[in-house]
Amino acid sequence: MPRLQTCSFCGGGIRPKTLPYHDEQWHGNTYRFENVPALVCAVCGEIYFEAAVSQAMDKVLTSNPKPKGFVQVPIVEFPLDAKTKVGA
Ligand SMILES: [Zn+2]
Repeated sequence: MPRLQTCSFCGGGIRPKTLPYHDEQWHGNTYRFENVPALVCAVCGEIYFEAAVSQAMDKVLTSNPKPKGFVQVPIVEFPLDAKTKVGA
């Protein structure tokens, strides 16, 4: 894949950036990678990965990795009264 110069969604400029973390879905589970090199649109924030980065993450996931830790995420109800205001 050729290196992106502009965002394919908004045409904004793409900048290299190291993401503090990135969550990948794999076989129904979520895996969090830390310090992932990415290309980020300066306008809309869309995130792109170069092929080598995606391949590196796939390689880790297919190797049955041992997690260095786990994240607990609080679950809360979305307020019912807000739902009716949105419509749909
Ligand atoms: Zn964009």
